[in-house]
Amino acid sequence: MTITQLSRQNVQALTPYQSARKLGGNGAIWLNANEYPTSPDFQLSGKDLNRYPEPQPQAVLENYAAYAGLKAENVIVTRGGDEGIELAIKAFCQPEQDAILFCPPTYGMYAVSAETIGVQAFKVNQTAEFQLDLPAIKTTLEQNTNIKVVFVCNPNNPTGTLLNRQDVLELLEFTRNRAIVVLDEAYIEFSQADTFVPELANFPHLAIIRTLSKAFALAGLRCGFTLANPELIQILNKVIAPYPIPVPSADLAEQALRPANIEVVKQRVQGILAGRAWLAEELAKIPSVEQVFDTHSNYILVKFQDGPKVFKALWDKGIILRDQHKAVNLTNCVRITIGTDEENRAVIEAIKAV
Ligand SMILES: *Cc1c(COP(=O)(O)O)cnc(C)c1O
Repeated sequence: MTITQLSRQNVQALTPYQSARKLGGNGAIWLNANEYPTSPDFQLSGKDLNRYPEPQPQAVLENYAAYAGLKAENVIVTRGGDEGIELAIKAFCQPEQDAILFCPPTYGMYAVSAETIGVQAFKVNQTAEFQLDLPAIKTTLEQNTNIKVVFVCNPNNPTGTLLNRQDVLELLEFTRNRAIVVLDEAYIEFSQADTFVPELANFPHLAIIRTLSKAFALAGLRCGFTLANPELIQILNKVIAPYPIPVPSADLAEQALRPANIEVVKQRVQGILAGRAWLAEELAKIPSVEQVFDTHSNYILVKFQDGPKVFKALWDKGIILRDQHKAVNLTNCVRITIGTDEENRAVIEAIKAV
């Protein structure tokens, strides 16, 4: 048997996540991964590296809990928000038996994590307005009692849409005692809408994913959080790796979550929102743009007459965007991360020149 044949069948069949970085490109301007365009400046405080880190760094838990208005017992720190997605599936889905549900077009890691673990994925497409198709979700859940985790992304990546709050609440009511709802709030800081954190008091099966990769400008740190009631957090703690957060990451995350820096984050978010408004306005003036979708995030989804052509033309100029042409219901769409003012201007000029 070859090494490939020895690997698990689901791994043989797996298409790995096409991360923005893996897609390559000789970019000068990177607007494809929803990162913050510049790096904050933190210094390591010189902690010892010969010892293993705390499995769950207490100072980080406490700072994030304070930021989110919760207690440390409501928080688990993970290797990016992505690890939280994986932990939920690992902890609640029996491989080859249970299933997850998610609503395309949405974040790609729900599917990839499920496939890797060997868990089936039910897909219930969003409505034409990029909202939850609640009747279809309910039918799918009723017909497939093996669905243990429902993923919902709000604001949604890649559309930037905010879900109707009442729909999410109805989903939470419907799934009570049936399944876990993982609400992905990776971009919540860019949205005017309220977080669902206060709803944790009402729904023991709700888990909320957060990250330092977006508004906190620390994608390189690989630090994320899942917020839930203590019973659910304890279950996730059973399946997480023994030392998921390296000492340097915990050190910098603790600093990034101090109140003074949270004020800096809020200022930066205001800058991104101003850039977003400018970009949306300029895009709407360009004849090859068919639609600029309403966004509540640090990126804009745009429909062009010929999306792949625009994507390729900018790629060739070293401006790397995210092509969404093949995603469900996103024909000719491209996702553009908000960059610096200079980068935003360069994108507009380049699109005009196509
Ligand atoms: C970026 C992102 C995450 C988490 O990213 P990490 O870098 O792993 O923290 C989670 N969900 C969505 C929808 C994202 O876009």
